Amino acid sequence: MKGVEVKSPKKFKITVNQHYCKGCNNCVEFCPKNVLELNIMLKAYPVREDDCIGCLRCEYYCPDYAITVTPLTEDARNKEEVNQ
Ligand code: SF4
Ligand code: SF4
Repeated sequence: MKGVEVKSPKKFKITVNQHYCKGCNNCVEFCPKNVLELNIMLKAYPVREDDCIGCLRCEYYCPDYAITVTPLTEDARNKEEVNQ
């Protein structure tokens, strides 16, 4: 019997300030869950935000304070789901 894939709810919101990010790749390299990648403009962006575990390594290793990880409250999470 095939299992049904249950998508775990998003627990963190990742924001990258496009003006501050200089594409150094630190956050991409240090993220243990491969959440981040650089886009063609060489700016970091979350490609697998659902996998974020909130370890904050990306924030810690960003030399330009460009990335912010925000825990989502139950309320915020519900609103995100409604807006998707
Ligand atoms: S908080 Fe941790 S898991 Fe989430 S994007 Fe940053 S480094 Fe990756
Ligand atoms: S560590 Fe900071 S500056 Fe470097 S790519 Fe990530 S967000 Fe951009």
